[in-house]
Amino acid sequence: MVCYKCNITAVGVCKFCGRGVCHDCHSKMPAIVAVYVGENQTPKTIVVADALWCGQCKPQPEPIPMPEIY
Ligand SMILES: [Zn+2]
Ligand SMILES: [Zn+2]
Repeated sequence: MVCYKCNITAVGVCKFCGRGVCHDCHSKMPAIVAVYVGENQTPKTIVVADALWCGQCKPQPEPIPMPEIY
């Protein structure tokens, strides 16, 4: 696996889009890994604070409604 920018060995893949990123190119971004409804019907999220991020893709903070799928 190689970095999508510089073609050297990647240290990991972007949590959001799956591209390989090397140590110089990766960034950090909080990632929501789960959403659930807590007490009092309050939605809560479980967030990974330092998820590996390629710095290029644009992860959305919340699920996007896609009515056109239906
Ligand atoms: Zn990405
Ligand atoms: Zn790179």
